[in-house]
Amino acid sequence: MKNRSLLMIPGPIEFEPAVLSALGAPTTSHVAPDFIEVFGASLEQMRQVFFSPDGQPFILAGSGTLAMDSAGANLVEPGDRALVINTGFFSDRFGTILERYGAEVTHVRAPVGGHPSLQAVEELLQSGPFKLMTITHVDTSTGVRADVRALAALAAQRGTLVVVDGVCSVAGEDLRMKDWGVDLVLTASQKAVGVPPGLALLMAGPRAMAAFKARKKPVCNYYADWTNWLPVMESYEKRKPGYFGTPAVNLVWALHTSLGKILSEGMDARFTRHALISRSCKEGIRALGLGQVPLEKNYAAHTMTAPRFPEGIHGPDFLSRVSKAGVVLAGGLHPEIKAEYFRIGHMGAATLGDVLAVLGAIETALAGCGYQVEPGSSLQAAVKTYRSTVP
Ligand code: PMP
Repeated sequence: MKNRSLLMIPGPIEFEPAVLSALGAPTTSHVAPDFIEVFGASLEQMRQVFFSPDGQPFILAGSGTLAMDSAGANLVEPGDRALVINTGFFSDRFGTILERYGAEVTHVRAPVGGHPSLQAVEELLQSGPFKLMTITHVDTSTGVRADVRALAALAAQRGTLVVVDGVCSVAGEDLRMKDWGVDLVLTASQKAVGVPPGLALLMAGPRAMAAFKARKKPVCNYYADWTNWLPVMESYEKRKPGYFGTPAVNLVWALHTSLGKILSEGMDARFTRHALISRSCKEGIRALGLGQVPLEKNYAAHTMTAPRFPEGIHGPDFLSRVSKAGVVLAGGLHPEIKAEYFRIGHMGAATLGDVLAVLGAIETALAGCGYQVEPGSSLQAAVKTYRSTVP
């Protein structure tokens, strides 16, 4: 029996062989000339992927939570007011991080699977001033996709900094930092960026950098302090060595390879592909009679799908049957509905073939759990959806 399964969770994802071989190459010194070139070029590639020609990129060793922590540590001073657009578990986490750095946090919430209305956000912004507003572009606990463009436009009218958690969106969902007036976008390597876990990536726009430089108090976090990292990023970009903490050398080589692939696919083509794969998956799930966590289709992520279990399905039993069929999916995460749904990731190099394998495994597992489905019905719906768009 083959010792391999298809990993279709919302991160880490299946990685491209070229990225994995870059990761496996002999480790160089972090100040070797060829590594300096790769680090510098990766920073430049990030500006294109984030649509931020005048942004300051940071590549740090750490996970997405470190990227969130770094944004909070560097932008918040005690007593600052922050507004969290809350669409789930990771929005809550951002609020907790901001509070840790002394912010007074206001959450604008919606029922699970929903999103706060623009009107509610506007009213709260009016009651401000808020120094910053956080948006979780795709909250991985609900699969809800926020309307970053419209929200950022509201904040811009009030001079509020817009900080986007793009961990489950960057390089998969349309996100145009400069054009949309977003001041900071952060992500992690293991999702649509297509690199194994271990890199925290941030892009700080000019207003975020100005807010950091105007701080009255030192940053209350040693490792994440941009004062330490900014000279390092600037040196590498000038193709000079820099040091504060040893960079994750192999992961940076892998990042350079993956960003190259992303840019050669083309950002628009990549967003369109993610939307198409997502639609195909979601139509397949609908054909099985399963609901989905996002309450509105237009606010559902393109990087993942969050189907609800039919009545009477026991999540762990279902997931273990899916796994026996060769596919790995994720369970629920949002504390209020944890046992009621599961999660499928379809980002990065995901194809229609991957989605069909996922749907086949889901059908098999549902039947094994006693839920009757017409064999192939979800695959048919997915292929139909795909073919209606791709000539
Ligand atoms: N934000 C979002 C939207 C996420 O999906 C995740 C991870 N699933 C995180 C933040 C935290 O990232 P990490 O697990 O890499 O720390």
